[in-house]
Amino acid sequence: DDLAIIGEDGEFLGFSEQQSELLPVVAIVGRPNVGKSALVNRILGRREAVVEDKPGVTRDRVSYQADWNDKRFSLVDTGGWEPDARGIDASVALQAEIAIELCDVVLFVVDSRVGPTATDERVVQLLRRTDKPVFLIANKVDDAVLEPEAAQLWALGLGEPHPVSALHGRGVADLLDMVIKVLPDESAVAQPKLVGPRRVAILGRPNVGKSSLLNKAAGEERVVVNDLAGTTRDPVDEQVEIAGRVWTFVDTAGIRRRVHMHKGADFYASLRTTAALEKAEVGVVMLDVTQEISDQDLRIIDLVLESGRALVLAFNKWDLLDEDRRRMLDREIEKDLAHVEWAPRVNISARTGRHLEKLVPALEAALDGWDTRIPTAKFNGFLAELVQEHPHPLRGGKQPRILFGTQVQNRPPTFVLFSTGFLDPQYRRFIQRRLRENYGFVGTPIVTNMRIRE
Ligand code: GDP
Ligand code: GDP
Repeated sequence: DDLAIIGEDGEFLGFSEQQSELLPVVAIVGRPNVGKSALVNRILGRREAVVEDKPGVTRDRVSYQADWNDKRFSLVDTGGWEPDARGIDASVALQAEIAIELCDVVLFVVDSRVGPTATDERVVQLLRRTDKPVFLIANKVDDAVLEPEAAQLWALGLGEPHPVSALHGRGVADLLDMVIKVLPDESAVAQPKLVGPRRVAILGRPNVGKSSLLNKAAGEERVVVNDLAGTTRDPVDEQVEIAGRVWTFVDTAGIRRRVHMHKGADFYASLRTTAALEKAEVGVVMLDVTQEISDQDLRIIDLVLESGRALVLAFNKWDLLDEDRRRMLDREIEKDLAHVEWAPRVNISARTGRHLEKLVPALEAALDGWDTRIPTAKFNGFLAELVQEHPHPLRGGKQPRILFGTQVQNRPPTFVLFSTGFLDPQYRRFIQRRLRENYGFVGTPIVTNMRIRE
């Protein structure tokens, strides 16, 4: 089956027959003027430097597709970040910290003619702390006479310096040979870009109505199609059309195969839920409105949160709801589901088919939130305003300050906050609430990580 290729911003790029691999990411870091752009252009095989932005405009990371000896990778150029008010030192260090978060391999470029500067030393301290492979590049070694200058960079303690001339190409091939040797086949940090129909896991405890929903949504056609295709065993996933849009419901075989387990049923049910979530982008947790919201329901919701997938809550058997029960349900929702009040809720009846089409906007909203990316500059504007209005409370006479932040991933949106001290969980939750107020993030967990810098 053809899959749609969706770009970073959700734009449609075309079709592909294969799931694209997650290209490993190589990041280039270093202070301004060491030759990072020149190296990018050399690796990409371009003769002239590309000027992409107007001077003075802060831009985000720029990522290119590169290859060497048939090995493909993404090349991330962090060089466009402008030094800000905190000065060049801090900016370069932050850039390196972020690059380390975002890549599989780091190329750290130093100008061998200048030798290591204080800024370089600061970056070195950060690079020493990572487990990821780091290549120390001594650039501007345009001929052999200059090699001894490169050798001086051993003093940085990052191992062997690799002398290159980004401008003339000298040494770059040898460098790339070594880089591709340590590149993983699949990135540990890259995000899948190929989606096709979006993948939905239908979840919930026994008898909430999962198979009913599946049957209602899939209708009878599905059976006919499978018979024609001559399939002998249950397909694991099914393509299901709801209100004109096709979705992949994952692990429907698991829903249909009604295994009656007694001992450890709960344990196996949660394994199945976890496995389904692994393949899904969004989890629809079904709740039976005729029953009190139970611990088991809450555990299933927790599994979705832990998996980092988007979340939709479907309140099923709405046809059986009377006024009394409805009032109780409202109170239960308020009490038990406050921590996921951001999740879209739909009231459905899987048996009658009532409001099943409302699942579509709910799924779309949740996936939109899950996909959201906030550019670094915008996010820092948001942070600056928030911190000014509500600084972190004093703790033991000290006040941790947030220096800078960036969204390192989407799916789910994941932020790293660089701060001078530990940020209280309440304060991080406050930031998350503000993020939701400002940017929506409907239906998605938000992750805020910290990096504490002295
Ligand atoms: P960036 O700020 O780190 O991206 O540095 P650029 O790639 O813009 O390079 C800064 C300056 O160094 C430019 O004038 C380049 O032409 C020069 N440069 C870059 N690489 C080399 C090199 O290998 N040899 C020499 N001689 N100059 C270089
Ligand atoms: P599963 O175990 O989650 O797959 O649940 P099923 O789909 O097998 O449903 C369990 C029982 O609830 C069956 O008897 C269904 O007919 C019934 N059921 C499911 N959805 C609804 C609904 O929306 N309304 C009513 N009245 N009954 C439902």
